Amino acid sequence: MRCVSCRREVSGDYVRFKCPSCGNCEVVRCLKCRQTNVHYKCGECSFEGP
Ligand SMILES: [Zn+2]
Ligand SMILES: [Zn+2]
Repeated sequence: MRCVSCRREVSGDYVRFKCPSCGNCEVVRCLKCRQTNVHYKCGECSFEGP
C-alpha cells in the first residue's frame, strides 16, 4: 500500500478512503501527508483534493 501523495510505502498510521469523485478508487494517504495537507490525486479519475 502506497501513499498517493508522496508514493512512499505506508506503515502504521494512515488513512484510507474512497475517492469522493468516482467512488471506485481507494485513496491512501500517510499521516504525514494528511497532517501537512499535501494534495492527492485519484489514479482513476484524476480528481485532486486536499
Ligand atoms: Zn504521504
Ligand atoms: Zn476517482
